Amino acid sequence: MDVAENLNTIQASIEQACRIAKRNPEEITIIGVTKYVSLERTEEAINAGVVNLGENRQEGFMEKYNHIGDRAVWHFIGSLQTRKVKDIIDKVDYLHSLDRLSLAKEIEKRSSSTINCFIQVNVSGEESKHGMQPDEIVPFLEEISTFTKVRVVGLMTMAPHTDDRAVLHKVFRELRELRDVIKNKGYSSCEYLSMGMSNDYEIAIEEGATHIRIGSKLVGSNK
Ligand SMILES: *Cc1c(COP(=O)(O)O)cnc(C)c1O
Repeated sequence: MDVAENLNTIQASIEQACRIAKRNPEEITIIGVTKYVSLERTEEAINAGVVNLGENRQEGFMEKYNHIGDRAVWHFIGSLQTRKVKDIIDKVDYLHSLDRLSLAKEIEKRSSSTINCFIQVNVSGEESKHGMQPDEIVPFLEEISTFTKVRVVGLMTMAPHTDDRAVLHKVFRELRELRDVIKNKGYSSCEYLSMGMSNDYEIAIEEGATHIRIGSKLVGSNK
């Protein structure tokens, strides 16, 4: 399937989910996750009108970034090793995986401009998942409140692999509620919710997602 067709299908289902949730589809940003696909396929996505691109590894990020540059808005969505921060941070528009103080400190030290960050939260409590525990977020925000290069724009989570819609609703709802608690404590810039992937983005939208990260259903999953 070409990316343009896939994008049409996804946009139609976003509109459907927004009707259910009484939301405006313009609130939703589609991030095309290109980690599985070639540069050619990534170019096809750009030509189809995908503006936001996401990569989860430094190597893949650099390969795509070096060719595409400022024709895209760049999202880094994978866990980021502290020692790699200096190589990529000035190319990243949004970091979705801020998950520890040492990473925030390294960004503060290495970045030449303010980086928009989502704090990654392990809502489901699965051992295998990266991210901070929900009760760690407010203390963390206090610790980084004087940082000038780290701007927290929202929260990100990955749902467990399941077809159980009730479980998915619960995980996404909990992230939204956590965001609300944080905003009410005065962290007003923390407004976005990066949640929802190919298999669960409609549910995420019903629960308030503002940024959905779509790989396989948009660009495919083999090179
Ligand atoms: C791979 C990946 C995605 C996209 O996954 P699909 O199921 O292919 O849509 C989204 N978010 C993160 C963090 C990923 O690593």
